[in-house]
Amino acid sequence: NPDTLDARIAAQAAEARRLSGQIVVGGRMQPALATGSFEVENPATEEIIGEAPRCGEADVEAAVAAASEAFPKWSRTKARERGATLIAAANHLERHLEDIARLSSFETGNALATQSRGEARTMVDILRYFGGLAGEILGDTYPGDPGRMLYTRRDAMGVVGAIIPWNAPLMQTTSKIGPALAAGNTVVLKPAEQAPLAVVRIFELLQEVLPPGVANLVTGFGDEAGRLICEHPAVRKITFTGSSAVGVRIMHYAAEKIVPVTAELGGKNPIIIMEDSDIDRAVGGILQGLRLQRQGQSCSAGTRILLHEAVYDRVIEKVIDGVSGFNIGNPLDEAVQIGSIISRKQFERVLRYVDMARETPGARILCGGDRPAGLEKGYFYTTTLIEGVPETSPVACDEIFGPVATVSKWTDFDAVLKQANDTRYGLAATLFTENLPAAFRFIEEIEAGFVQVNQFAVAEANIEYGGTKLSGLGRELSLASMIQHFTWPKTVFMNTSAA
Ligand code: NAD
Repeated sequence: NPDTLDARIAAQAAEARRLSGQIVVGGRMQPALATGSFEVENPATEEIIGEAPRCGEADVEAAVAAASEAFPKWSRTKARERGATLIAAANHLERHLEDIARLSSFETGNALATQSRGEARTMVDILRYFGGLAGEILGDTYPGDPGRMLYTRRDAMGVVGAIIPWNAPLMQTTSKIGPALAAGNTVVLKPAEQAPLAVVRIFELLQEVLPPGVANLVTGFGDEAGRLICEHPAVRKITFTGSSAVGVRIMHYAAEKIVPVTAELGGKNPIIIMEDSDIDRAVGGILQGLRLQRQGQSCSAGTRILLHEAVYDRVIEKVIDGVSGFNIGNPLDEAVQIGSIISRKQFERVLRYVDMARETPGARILCGGDRPAGLEKGYFYTTTLIEGVPETSPVACDEIFGPVATVSKWTDFDAVLKQANDTRYGLAATLFTENLPAAFRFIEEIEAGFVQVNQFAVAEANIEYGGTKLSGLGRELSLASMIQHFTWPKTVFMNTSAA
């Protein structure tokens, strides 16, 4: 079989049909109890490619019951054995990496070559990393009176409810289940309604390695299945990635039963370029961000580009030149670098913000602002740079979550630091400079959880990731986050003296 674009599309269409209507509960992929369903669309063609169950109380109840039942044994499995099982699961996913990446491209519109394939590698890497850490969940010992032993142990919490968005569903799945399972918890996960199928496939594969009930998946709408998972009394921890508005809702559910929440939310992330920066490196960083970050649908996308006036024209010219070379098209095409926006709703949101910019006096669209030529079907949009919007405009303040960035000119470092911090969000921030004191000042003063100097890349499994302000609460990835957010401390006083 030649691996042509048509053959790829046909293979993924068949796979999407096979996974339609399925959820994964108690170790088995099976049809949901719910009779309702919703359609899954390929955003690159606007074709319906499958459907997923609209799970309600019965399916959530079954999934939480399966996870509760699996918990005692899984949490008491020797930690390194649990870790070895997760490493075996990571190896199993790796064997199917290409198929998972293709299916994800098919339903998200993310480009296979530049986006989904790398994301699938990260998915495996994260699960394997946490598997290796299962034996490193340490408590502390404390000095006490003679004949007294004081120590803490870190215990698993129970059933973890995990809710993820559609923009990077592969990576987000293992960012949630990796630390949760390594620490001895069991999981019920709900993917976003726009992109459930690749996650169903991941969970189907996980069942071939994990004990039944350890990792369960239900599909459905946020305020139905999502809310029911969060509200369920047996769910003892909620880990959420999504919008800030839903993050607030999630914290309300958690408050009702006093359970902890980790929340990875939105961002409106500044990239500051100083007058002394290496221009090619800065431009390369900006372009890499625009290329890799899923049509701007990334919480850490650099969407506010702040250029020193001395380099403004040069940087803009080079960025526009780079953007004009982007190859936008069907995400399963190996030559394509930029895929489509996830849905009509999200596409129309992008159009609304660009129209708002068009109507703003003094604002100018420097590039993009249109559908790419020749792509009439599908939610494709050109990478768009806008200058001259006031800082108070929604275009400059809101997370658009599309291929749209604002650019502005500055002269004074104090003022630009203030401007960079003048946002409700605090996720990522980037500085390009050759000036060491300025770099350290930026690191100290910027209100962002993820700070980069002279580079633009993505998160790594072994270091904490997350935001401040409306961008979130708690951290993901890393040993420290696993211990802090997926276990609870138990303090032990023990009298060791003879009676
Ligand atoms: P969303 O908040 O609309 O949905 C996210 C998930 O929450 C979906 O699974 C949805 O079904 C569920 N949900 C919605 N309402 C719910 C409710 N009332 N109760 C329980 N669950 C509910 O977000 P989205 O549009 O899918 O994703 C985009 C957002 O995610 C952006 O704001 C983006 O910045 C953010 N994001 C953040 C990170 C990060 O690590 N900080 C990473 C990726 C995406």
